[in-house]
Amino acid sequence: MAQDHPLAPSWLSSRSSTDDLEQKLFPDDARREASGSLSISGAEVTRLAEQHGTPLYVLSEEDFRRRARSFREAFGEAFAPEAEVDVFYAGKAFLSTHVARWAAQEGLCVDTASGGELAIALAAGVDPVRIGLHGNNKSDAEIRRALDAGIGRIIADSLDELNRIAQLAQDAGTTAPVMLRLTPGVHASTHEYIATAHEDQKFGLSLSGGRESAAWTAVQKALDAPAIDLRGLHCHIGSQIFEPTGFEVAAQKLIAFLAEIREDRGVELAELDLGGGHGIAYTEADSPRDPREIAEALAATVKQSCTEHGLSVPRISIEPGRAIVGPAGVTLYTVGVQKDVGVDTPDGGSTTRRYVAVDGGMSDNARGVLYDADYSAVLASRKVEGEHTLSRIVGKHCESGDIVVRDVYLPTATERGDILAVPATGAYCHSLSSNYNYLTRPAVVAVKDGASQVLIRRETEEDMLGRDTGFAP
Ligand SMILES: *Cc1c(COP(=O)(O)O)cnc(C)c1O
Repeated sequence: MAQDHPLAPSWLSSRSSTDDLEQKLFPDDARREASGSLSISGAEVTRLAEQHGTPLYVLSEEDFRRRARSFREAFGEAFAPEAEVDVFYAGKAFLSTHVARWAAQEGLCVDTASGGELAIALAAGVDPVRIGLHGNNKSDAEIRRALDAGIGRIIADSLDELNRIAQLAQDAGTTAPVMLRLTPGVHASTHEYIATAHEDQKFGLSLSGGRESAAWTAVQKALDAPAIDLRGLHCHIGSQIFEPTGFEVAAQKLIAFLAEIREDRGVELAELDLGGGHGIAYTEADSPRDPREIAEALAATVKQSCTEHGLSVPRISIEPGRAIVGPAGVTLYTVGVQKDVGVDTPDGGSTTRRYVAVDGGMSDNARGVLYDADYSAVLASRKVEGEHTLSRIVGKHCESGDIVVRDVYLPTATERGDILAVPATGAYCHSLSSNYNYLTRPAVVAVKDGASQVLIRRETEEDMLGRDTGFAP
């Protein structure tokens, strides 16, 4: 048994065996095989590492599909029979043409947040009517492209943008389907939400100020512009949210606003989009709710609130990204240099911290640097009984903040060449990846029934030199 290390966070339990797989962090179909290797959907990680190299993003197709279905079913059932629900997969979490097709095949729509994401969704063959376009600073070219493609909704983020959408749609002789992104004064993250009148952030149109508010002005403009088809209201209140309360409070504010619009203009807007931000487990300390629990709480509140205002329940949409693709993904790394570094303890003593360096880092997972995010890891290539050591998994970049996993107990016998698996990296890892230090971005492979398929190939030095005009091949 490992002794609790003086520098270990209180939530971290010491492990005694590599058999202890914290299942909630991994794809449903991750197992420890008799060989000792971790497998994902029947594909042993040792084989995957040999075949595709490391670092490697591995995505369980079945796990992705199951989570996509579970959101669609949970929300669809909770809001029935009053309203239908569209689940938009938030592509910014991770998008490739394959993944866009998986989402579409599971009955989801796809949200994009730039011309580039829109291009991927369109290239995947997703029905344009089932694509949304977000972004707080859409260019005219992006808006034109969305209109040309005939996408289902453009989520307008400002008055300036609403005016440009109206003009560009009119110029193109078409009508733009528009949702207005509002800031309802609710910020949520994990266990808490904060309610404020004014939101000091770049997104959306503020609801505060009543008839003077940006939101009210935008609704008037949108209803008066012949080239705008105002479908409804949108909000997105945060990320990594575990409790339904923040979603419920935001929904109530938007529904009250829908009632005001009806009173003033005699129109009931047809749709309400309550955004994404549903949380996942990154470490053993996280216990997210089942989508069904969130859906039921939210549906009860929305239905009641609509009844109170005498509104019929609008068509609902949600936009989960992380909660669908995050837990479906695992990153594999190869262990390189290890160091035991002397460290002072808070009580004036001293101890050592083991640094385990891997062949990737902040270029393939920037969330540690960006958000101080916690992750977990296991020794994935073999089974080791016995002593474990508090370890910090770091990358190979020229930054001391290049930390992949801040605190984890790894087998003391972990060696150079061992494969580590870091779970819950399906979302916001590849999509935030960079070429820092000219590391080549890892491949993304999907696994299913023991087989692997490359979704995005590993970047090569030729790719990097291909952009450098001083190099003659
Ligand atoms: C980022 C984002 C999402 C998805 O957030 P997740 O935390 O991945 O669920 C949904 N909608 C909007 C508008 C976003 O910006």
